Amino acid sequence: MSEQTTQSQRKVVVAGAGMAGVQTAVALREQGFTGTVTLIGAEPHQPYDRPPLSKAVLLGKAEGSAFDVDFEALGIELQLGREVLGVRPADHELDTEAGPVPYDVLVLATGAEPIRLPGVEGVPGVHLLRTLDDAERLRPVLARQHDIVVVGAGWIGAEFATAAREAGCAVTVVEAADRPLAGALPAEVAAPMTAWYQDSGAVLRTHARVERVEPGAVLLDDGSRLPAGAVVVGIGARPATAWLAGSGIELGAHGEVVADDGLRTSVPDVYAVGDCASFPSGRYGERLLVHHWDNALQGPRTVAANILGEATGETSAVYDPVPYFWSEQFGRFVQYAGHHAAADTTLWRGDPSGPAWTVCWLKDDRLVALLAVGRPRDLAQGRRLIEAGTPMDAALLGDPARPMKAATA
Ligand SMILES: Cc1cc2nc3c(=O)[nH]c(=O)nc-3n(C[C@H](O)[C@H](O)[C@H](O)COP(=O)(O)OP(=O)(O)OC[C@H]3O[C@@H](n4cnc5c(N)ncnc54)[C@H](O)[C@@H]3O)c2cc1C
Repeated sequence: MSEQTTQSQRKVVVAGAGMAGVQTAVALREQGFTGTVTLIGAEPHQPYDRPPLSKAVLLGKAEGSAFDVDFEALGIELQLGREVLGVRPADHELDTEAGPVPYDVLVLATGAEPIRLPGVEGVPGVHLLRTLDDAERLRPVLARQHDIVVVGAGWIGAEFATAAREAGCAVTVVEAADRPLAGALPAEVAAPMTAWYQDSGAVLRTHARVERVEPGAVLLDDGSRLPAGAVVVGIGARPATAWLAGSGIELGAHGEVVADDGLRTSVPDVYAVGDCASFPSGRYGERLLVHHWDNALQGPRTVAANILGEATGETSAVYDPVPYFWSEQFGRFVQYAGHHAAADTTLWRGDPSGPAWTVCWLKDDRLVALLAVGRPRDLAQGRRLIEAGTPMDAALLGDPARPMKAATA
């Protein structure tokens, strides 16, 4: 049998029709896969992009954010509104609401789901922000200009608070830690962001925990009572992998699928990509679980290359990205590239109380990460310097007037 015939008879099934699932299906076609590609998604909507949900879609500036992909023309079979319930690798079969689906190769791309605040399930006016349906439920809430309490000053909390202020709502953000983005950034970097909340007119309450939510009010553990026409919970997300229980596919400490450097799982013919999977980073020497858009764009190319490579006996593609994400909050464009550890040295470019600044993380004399606020050129150059592992001159790098690419040793 020729390679072409073998390939054209293979059936790839992708579970999850978000960014990572769609990009996997598209990358397979772009890279010349001729077999069957089936994309199964639980949500009934045409596959869509999530970042606009906390930005233009929320504010009604965009109707939706469906991907501009002609699935039919690409020969990608879409099965929407169909939840995958389990997988039996020994039989090469998925179980779905509408019965079993056989596969030759399976790609897990079920993303993440928001962590819920215990005890508030079913209380009227409590919202999450993960799906198009969530965003559509929140639009009229913003339009009514309620008092809004946001639980969690992470990325989603900050973006939602930004939109709610823009819509004219009174916003209080309740955060258990001592600062915004406590899980992502060290105190000295997050400190200037506290002022962003105040400047926008939002109230940020740190060291504050939600004790209870009642209709119309949030009660904090210090006894205070916040009026709340609506409550938006943004306390993080966890991989949507409960459906893999008992499948034999290895899950990690955060419930994520443990993939290898080619995004293969512990089970043959099963790959995992996007928010649901972690991978070993050769570059950073640790396993990374990345919940950002660029990872759901880049990872699928490696998955597709390896699916094709296995059919043709080519060498394995390795996934070792410089992670990247952006956030739009309080009128600022915030971008981060790389991955930093507590032991890395921080170096500032510019005044963090001003509108535009960058903070760099260095290990020895190499740039390993940077956060750029309103300095997209720093981000673009820094990302390339991280990728190349170029030695830097710290004194030159600290001068914000000097392009980063001109601060090499
Ligand atoms: C509101 C919001 C704003 C964001 N903004 C930014 C941003 O500005 N910058 C940035 O870098 N990142 C941002 N992100 C993160 C980014 O959108 C995600 O990293 C990306 O969507 C991950 O893609 P994914 O395909 O892995 O997962 P998902 O987008 O979660 O897609 C997974 C899909 O699988 C489906 N699914 C789950 N379980 C099953 C099942 N059992 N059966 C069938 N289908 C299933 C889900 O319904 C979902 O549609 C944002 C995320 C959100 C929620």
